[in-house]
Amino acid sequence: MKLLETHGLTAFYGDFQALFGIDLHVDEGETIAIVGANGAGKSTLMGAITGRRSAQREAITFDGKPIGGMKPAEIMARGIALVPEGRQLFPSLDVEENLLIGNYGRKVRGAWSLDAVYRLFPILKERRKQAATSLSGGQQQMVALGRALMSNPRLLLCDEISLGLAPAIIKDIYAALDAIRAEGASVMVVEQNIGQALAVSDRVYCLLEGRVTLTGRPEALSRDQISAAYFGGG
Ligand code: ATP
Repeated sequence: MKLLETHGLTAFYGDFQALFGIDLHVDEGETIAIVGANGAGKSTLMGAITGRRSAQREAITFDGKPIGGMKPAEIMARGIALVPEGRQLFPSLDVEENLLIGNYGRKVRGAWSLDAVYRLFPILKERRKQAATSLSGGQQQMVALGRALMSNPRLLLCDEISLGLAPAIIKDIYAALDAIRAEGASVMVVEQNIGQALAVSDRVYCLLEGRVTLTGRPEALSRDQISAAYFGGG
């Protein structure tokens, strides 16, 4: 069943058009990767889906209902959570307070609670009274991921979660995503790291200058096809 769909989604910054009619979908239980170079429109797409950018009402449907242009809190309450690029933790709050903010406004029972997040990332329990920004980059990413899980989302959006992290930490973060999928969530990852994206996803969408240039299952796509779709000119 289709959980999320976009239909001809466009986005503008003033006169500048950043997205040109994006059609994509995420099925229940699926992991989708959105890949593309700097400026391809990945963050704009995430912003539209999560209500941080304006969108036409019918251009985005979740669970069969239009959500385009709704406020971020309403979209979150329906079951879409974002791990934002750059993490955006609250610097004056400790780890636990940052996590607790994540379930504000969505009153559903599910697999994810403070205890469950601490089981997923035991280091966060040890550090729970520390300022979130005193943690390493990888640990901060765990807080951002844990905070998103606290709302028990049906769809988890992850914007560049491997950016700037050491390979061993990236492995841990992606292993956590496996555990999250095992609890039933669908996942959409936005990655500049193509290898990572192909390794974890059921399907990939390649974005270039605001358009989908390629989509398919990773095993069905050749390196050349991906390279042309990613960099253009192919
Ligand atoms: P990155 O990997 O650098 O985050 P991206 O694929 O997420 O890139 P977006 O950030 O969505 O791309 O940007 C898409 C296009 O919109 C780019 O051409 C960018 O310059 C432009 N853009 C993004 N934000 C703004 C803004 N606030 N004002 C004007 N143009 C913007």
